Amino acid sequence: METYDALLAAITPTSGATRTILDPATGTAVGEAPVHTVQDLERAVAAAEAAQPAWAALGHDARSAALLRAADAVERSAEELARLLSREQGKPLNGPNARFEVGACAAWLRVAATTVLEPETVVDDGETRAELHYRPIGVVGAIGPWNWPMMITVWQIAPALRMGNAVVVKPSEYTPLSVLALAKVLNEELPEGLLTVVSGGRDVGARLAEHPAVGKVMFTGSTATGKAIIRSSADTVKRLTLELGGNDAGIVLPDADPKAIAEGLFWGAFINTGQTCAALKRLYVHSDIYEAVCEELTTVAAAMPMGNGLDENNVLGPLQNRQQFDIVARLVEAARDSGAKILLGGNPATDQPGHFYPATLVADIDNANPLVAEEQFGPALPIIRYSTVDEAVAMANALDVGLGASVWSSDPVAAREVAARIQSGTVWINKHGAVDPRVPFGGAKQSGYGLEFGVEGLKALGVPQVING
Ligand code: NAD
Repeated sequence: METYDALLAAITPTSGATRTILDPATGTAVGEAPVHTVQDLERAVAAAEAAQPAWAALGHDARSAALLRAADAVERSAEELARLLSREQGKPLNGPNARFEVGACAAWLRVAATTVLEPETVVDDGETRAELHYRPIGVVGAIGPWNWPMMITVWQIAPALRMGNAVVVKPSEYTPLSVLALAKVLNEELPEGLLTVVSGGRDVGARLAEHPAVGKVMFTGSTATGKAIIRSSADTVKRLTLELGGNDAGIVLPDADPKAIAEGLFWGAFINTGQTCAALKRLYVHSDIYEAVCEELTTVAAAMPMGNGLDENNVLGPLQNRQQFDIVARLVEAARDSGAKILLGGNPATDQPGHFYPATLVADIDNANPLVAEEQFGPALPIIRYSTVDEAVAMANALDVGLGASVWSSDPVAAREVAARIQSGTVWINKHGAVDPRVPFGGAKQSGYGLEFGVEGLKALGVPQVING
């Protein structure tokens, strides 16, 4: 266990260019992040290439043991990591936020370490014996966003390391300290050069995506950047896993119990103050229970404390950056201007520091409104009325993204039938966004391709090789 100050000191550069990272709740300095360059990236890739063969040669058992020790190291430093994450990203310590995220890092490391992946005998008929193996790729690039910086980094690097690869991480410019601190803790248990964080800008990300020595890029972020990465990786035919933006629909069937589902709906939409890829971003409610759902949701949302993340009472925090605040504000204003009804929130305070936008619920809104059609990525949920299930399914499927979705009902059979008609990588029933390290997760349509987690997630970090003799 180390102190918060010791952890911050360990990742503070002693030379080279730096950038001050500001706390989104207060505007005060959190720390200094290095401004790494493309030359730093080249050094990190060379170190990864040097470290990878010995790591691969260790075999699964020894690599898994190292990942389990790395999970222990995360748990030993959990409180310091959570405080830094809270200060840099803004998310509160409590609720499904900073402590939860650090706990998830340990959990995903453990599952990546213990998931069994055996070579598969595909044909064995006396004449032909064909086996499918998964070999290390070599060097993997991991490019991540600012909303769940530690957890998403672990999603990318844990299966990569388990499969015998080295990793170079390019964190978001908004949240480099969280990723540097996480890597510092993980590196207590990993060989030198195997895992390096290059805290640079988009130029560094772009170079990582085209680098000839990088065999695969794990990317989580916006659809626009995902398309740029596809283009820059094309010349070297890189493998890609792309977890891109979403605009998840939730459909509440007429038999649902509004009071029973209200809290689940709230956290499905407002987890991490709405800054979550697979959060519920459009809620479709049958007209029979529309008013009741709006009322119950408003009661739950109004009671959730928002404020500085280090205050133990808060469960909602600020938006991470002003750009995201402006997107949410613009979309809520567009809804208000169109005549939609603001049930709660919608009026951010202008006299306080920090990017706080209040929890906002918007009813009587048209499906074509920008607050519905665009990804808000913040605490503002549009609630759309529907009268037939066909209509609700058509609206849910109308967009060109499909990460997650949910169906809410007292009848699990009816809910599964509706779920099968939705075009998204996951459909949850009576919950939303509940990711699980054992269960594959990925997008449909322009929400990306490739699966993370579970055995499918391990396979995605290997090169399939058939031995046929
Ligand atoms: P972003 O695309 O702006 O940035 C993500 C990362 O890509 C950053 O590290 C950035 O520096 C880097 N980058 C930017 N341009 C690049 C380029 N040309 N080449 C290589 N790298 C480049 O995304 P963001 O704003 O940080 O994250 C929010 C978005 O991410 C939302 O759309 C959200 O839905 C999505 N997201 C998806 C998932 C998922 O699992 N599907 C999870 C979290 C966030």
